Amino acid sequence: MDYSKPIEIAEDIFWVGYKIPNDPFQCHVYLIKNGNESVLIDPGSMITFPITVNKITQIVPLNNIKYIICHHQDPDITGCISTLEKLIPRKDKFIVTHWRAQALLKHYQWETPFYLVEKNKWKLFLKNGRILDFIFTPYAHFPGAFCTFDRKTKTLFSSDLFGGFTEEFSLFAKDENYFASIKAFHEHYIPSREILLNALMEIEKKEPEIIAPQHGSIIKKDLIPYMINRMKELNCGLFLLSSYESNIEILLKTNQIINEVFKEVVNNSDFLTVLRKTFMTLKNNDIPIKDIITYAYDRGEKEEGKEWFAVFSTVKGEIPKKEIEKNKKIVKTLVEGISRPKCMGKIKLVTDTIDEYNNTFGIPLESNNDNIKAAIYFIMEKELNDKQRKTIEEALDKLIHPLSSSLANEIIIKELGEEKKELFNTTIHDSLTGLKNRVFLESVATNEISKAIRYEYPLCVIMFDIDYFKSVNDTYGHLAGDFILQEVAKIIKASFRATDYVIRYGGEEILAILPYAREKDACRRAEDIRKLIEGREFIMGNKMIKITISAGVYERRNETEMHELIGKADKRLYKAKKEGRNKVVCSD
Ligand code: GH3
Ligand code: MG
Ligand code: MG
Repeated sequence: MDYSKPIEIAEDIFWVGYKIPNDPFQCHVYLIKNGNESVLIDPGSMITFPITVNKITQIVPLNNIKYIICHHQDPDITGCISTLEKLIPRKDKFIVTHWRAQALLKHYQWETPFYLVEKNKWKLFLKNGRILDFIFTPYAHFPGAFCTFDRKTKTLFSSDLFGGFTEEFSLFAKDENYFASIKAFHEHYIPSREILLNALMEIEKKEPEIIAPQHGSIIKKDLIPYMINRMKELNCGLFLLSSYESNIEILLKTNQIINEVFKEVVNNSDFLTVLRKTFMTLKNNDIPIKDIITYAYDRGEKEEGKEWFAVFSTVKGEIPKKEIEKNKKIVKTLVEGISRPKCMGKIKLVTDTIDEYNNTFGIPLESNNDNIKAAIYFIMEKELNDKQRKTIEEALDKLIHPLSSSLANEIIIKELGEEKKELFNTTIHDSLTGLKNRVFLESVATNEISKAIRYEYPLCVIMFDIDYFKSVNDTYGHLAGDFILQEVAKIIKASFRATDYVIRYGGEEILAILPYAREKDACRRAEDIRKLIEGREFIMGNKMIKITISAGVYERRNETEMHELIGKADKRLYKAKKEGRNKVVCSD
C-alpha cells in the first residue's frame, strides 16, 4: 500500500493522513469527497498538516471543503485549523462539533463559525443527498465526544473509539490480533466500562460496515462484530488501579491478573483452583512463578491442640494434616509474620518439609472471623526485573480481597464435616425439581449482591413464571403439573452456566441469578428459554400438553439488597403477564 498517496477506503471517502515515522500513536485524517460540499474529518496537527493538504488537493480543491468535523478538541485533531482556515477562503464553511468542545475551541478565536451537532438534530444534510448522522458517545473519552456515520457507505468515523496503539503501522486491521492494540488503548483511555458499553451500543444500532478511527487501524466489515464483542469485556479506567504506576504495560498486566483471578473467585471455584488460576495467570503475564503456598489456621474456640491448620501449595495440592502438625509453630509464624504485601527475600517455608527459598513475596489474608489467620507466599523461580516486580507488587495488593474471600468459603465448607455437608445439601435443594431453594437463596446467593458491589461487576436476575399453570393442574391433574414443573426446571437449569444460580422461588416461579451478566445478555437468554418452552410438547401418558412461560429481567443499578432486585424483576414479570403472557419483559 502506498501511504504517500490518498487512499480510498469507501466510495468517495479517502484517508488523507500522514504516517508519522516510528510512532505507535498514528493520527488519521479522512475526507469525504462531495463536490463543493466536501467534508474534512479531524484535520490533524501541524505535524501531519503539510502532507494532508497535499493529499486533499489531489482529490478536491481546498476551497471545496465546506465542513470540518472536530470530534473533540484535542491538539492532534485541531492543531492545524488556525492555518487551515486561511487556506479555505469561502465564507460559508463550518466547524462541526459538539457544544462541549466548542466551549473550549472558541478560545482559538477562529473566524469559521460552528455547526453544533446537538442543535441540528445530530444530522448534517449534504448536497447530492448525502446524510451524515452524529452519534453521541459521551465521556468516551471526552464529555462531548461523538462519532460520525455516513449513511451511504455505512462508514463510521469513530474518533478515539476503536483506536489502537500499533507498533507496526497498518492502515487496515489485518486480523483479530488488532484487538490487542485496541485493548491497550481503551483500557486506560476510556474511564469506565459503562461508558464504553453505552458508546458501543449506540454504534451497533447503526450497523457500520467499515470503521475508520482516528488512531490505529481501519476495521473492515468482517472484523467489526468480533472487535465490538471483545471490547464489551474491557476493563476500563486502568489508571484507577494504581495511584503511583503510570506505565500502561504494567497496568495492563496487573489488570489482567486481577480480573482472571477474580472471575475464578466469582465462579465459586474451590480455593486450590483459585490459587492455581492465580499461578497460571501470573505465569502468562511474564512472572516467573514457581509455587504459591498458603498457610491458614483457625485457633477457634476449641480445646488446646484442636486448632485447624491447612497448607495449600499450587504445585503439591493440599498438604496432608499430619505433615503440618509437625510444623505448626512455623506455620503460625509464617501466618502472623506478615501484615502487608511485601517482598521477603530469603525465607524458610513449610512445603511438606521445610525448604528455603529466595525471591518470595508474601501477602496477609483478611478474615471476618478474628480466629482465622492466613497468609500466602509467592515463590519466584528467579530474581525479578523491574517491570516484573512492579507488576506483581501492584497485583498482590489487589488480590488480597478476592483470595481472602475464596479462602473464607473454603474454611466454612471444611469445618462443616461430611455429615453436616450432607444435611446442608438436602436443606438447600428443592425435592421436586432438584433446583436450589429459598434456603439457599437466603444463606448463599444473597451474598452475590455484596460481591457485585464490592468488585463492581454487573448482576442480573430473571424471574420466570409458568403461564396459567393453575389450569394445567385443573385440566390434567396435579401429577401432570408436577411433571411439567420438573421438565421446565430442567430446561431452565440447562440454559444457564454452572456459575449462575437457578432457584425454585415459589410454586411455579423460578429465579435465576446471573453474576457477570449484562441485561442485554440476560434478556437474550430468557427469550431463548421462552421460545424453547413455547415449542416444546410435554407428553404425559397419552396426553400432549403445551405451556408457555413469562419472565421479568432486571440488572442491578444502585440496589444493595437481593430482595430489591427480585422485586424489580417481579414487577417486570407482572408486566409480561399483563401484556398477554408468553413474554419476556426487560424494561419498566
Ligand atoms: P399466571 O399466568 O398468572 O401465572 O397464572 P397461574 O395460574 O400460573 O398463576 P397462579 O399463581 O394463580 O397459580 C399458580 C399455580 O401453580 C397454583 C398451584 O396450583 C400451582 N402450583 C404451585 N406449586 C405447584 C407444584 O409443586 N405442583 C403443581 N402441580 N402445581 C403447583
Ligand atoms: Mg403462573
Ligand atoms: Mg405464580
